[in-house]
Amino acid sequence: MEYKLWINGQWTESQGGSTMAIENPATRGTVAQVVDASRADVDAAVQAAKTAFYDGRWSKLTPGARSNAMLKLATIFETRVEDIARTESLQTGKPYAFNALGADMPFAVDNIRFFAAAARDVHGSHAGEYLGGFTSIFRREPVGVVGQIAPWNYPVLMAIWKLGPALAAGCTVVLKPAPGTPLTSLMLAEMCAEAGIPDGVVNVITGGNDAGQALVEHPDVRMVSLTGSTETGKKVMATAAKTLKRVHLELGGKAPILVFEDADLDLVAAKTTLGATFNTGQDCTAATRVYAEKSRYASAKEALVEAMRAVKVGDPMDDSTEVGPLISARQRERVAGFVDRAKAAGATILTGGQVPAGLDQGYFYAPTVICDIDQSAEIIQGEVFGPVITVMPFEGEAQAVQYGNDVQYGLAASVFTKDVGRAMRVSAALEFGTVWVNDHIPLTSETPHGGFKQSGFGKDLSAEAVGDYQITKHVMISHV
Ligand code: NAD
Repeated sequence: MEYKLWINGQWTESQGGSTMAIENPATRGTVAQVVDASRADVDAAVQAAKTAFYDGRWSKLTPGARSNAMLKLATIFETRVEDIARTESLQTGKPYAFNALGADMPFAVDNIRFFAAAARDVHGSHAGEYLGGFTSIFRREPVGVVGQIAPWNYPVLMAIWKLGPALAAGCTVVLKPAPGTPLTSLMLAEMCAEAGIPDGVVNVITGGNDAGQALVEHPDVRMVSLTGSTETGKKVMATAAKTLKRVHLELGGKAPILVFEDADLDLVAAKTTLGATFNTGQDCTAATRVYAEKSRYASAKEALVEAMRAVKVGDPMDDSTEVGPLISARQRERVAGFVDRAKAAGATILTGGQVPAGLDQGYFYAPTVICDIDQSAEIIQGEVFGPVITVMPFEGEAQAVQYGNDVQYGLAASVFTKDVGRAMRVSAALEFGTVWVNDHIPLTSETPHGGFKQSGFGKDLSAEAVGDYQITKHVMISHV
């Protein structure tokens, strides 16, 4: 299958771009060929989005009309979930039944419906007389053409988390999916057209980092929203500064799990294991650093090892598989590199730390538990992005919070305790955008998702995300 670019509501030939192969990480076979967009392609997509924005074909529709088109999109998407999930599974290696169809698709449909509903309540404009003889009106307007750059871990969900709030706000969009996983974003763009979202409102360019860079540099793009690594976030912010664009950054994470003396260890093991292995640990909110109160350290390790060993790793197309391969050879080298260096520095590998037996064709890696490390270790401080957890002991609430906060990231954390007071104190003291108490990983369309510190700023999901794509204008009317 060969795909073109999706520009101005149609499949469009590239202007000088080369092509890239999309690889199935479970088999190393080629799934499709896509365009590696050139600078001229990026410009064509931005021009289409610019024309569509300024002639008002989307931004000047009533909120109800925008909402109805998005609801139609949700219905079309829902009728095709099996096809979308299969494509998602082929390009990412996600288990089809457990992840792609079972988890990502229902959430995606709900996300689109949520943003369709949010589209009806975007104005928030109000009027007041704040100076004698004048009425002030505060209008919430769409920011304009938005460049959206997505990662490979949840391709279609990330596309929806970007398009949904931008479309609800009335913006037009050029979306660049990650280089290796663009297929479901292209499918989504075609469905937007079928749903009646006008031509030029949603444009998708496929390609590598250079195409992303060209989008960030483009003078007609008013805002850039990136989900990616913290390193890329810094580059994007520096580039965006040259044209003083708004930036919205959803970056890396390194979630701590604080396990207090009174915690239910079966619950800790179950939730942490799911949090650490869901999507093969390639999740910015993945459970990664377990800190257990000293008195429960030994039993916490035991419970975690048992639960991590029980996870079923294997063929993504087998319905009983819970964990598929990592996304690429490079990603597996990265994960194995972290584990091997930790081992060389004296860490103990309690389980995993290798390619599972019989699974050497794709990029598989066994769920791994590591101990005997200290807080400054690279594997504690760095984002591994694989099914790997570390376990360390702590003494007292203050040290738990200190260890939890002592990384550059601040995306998600969890606390396991039966003491409500402690749950309240610790969740307030943790510098993370999401803190779960007695769970790890659930999200809903209504709940804001985004980072503190070097995990970025701006929110995905929730009504707050829509606000990020709006700008306030003050209109002051003299009565005389
Ligand atoms: P990445 O940073 O390598 O790439 C992300 C996207 O940015 C890709 O589309 C890439 O082509 C593009 N890009 C890279 N360099 C660029 C540049 N200089 N200018 C413009 N665009 C550029 O990240 P990845 O490896 O695709 O994804 C994994 C990362 O994403 C992890 O760090 C993970 O934590 C993070 N992530 C964060 C969230 C969140 O909500 N905070 C969600 C998912 C993933």
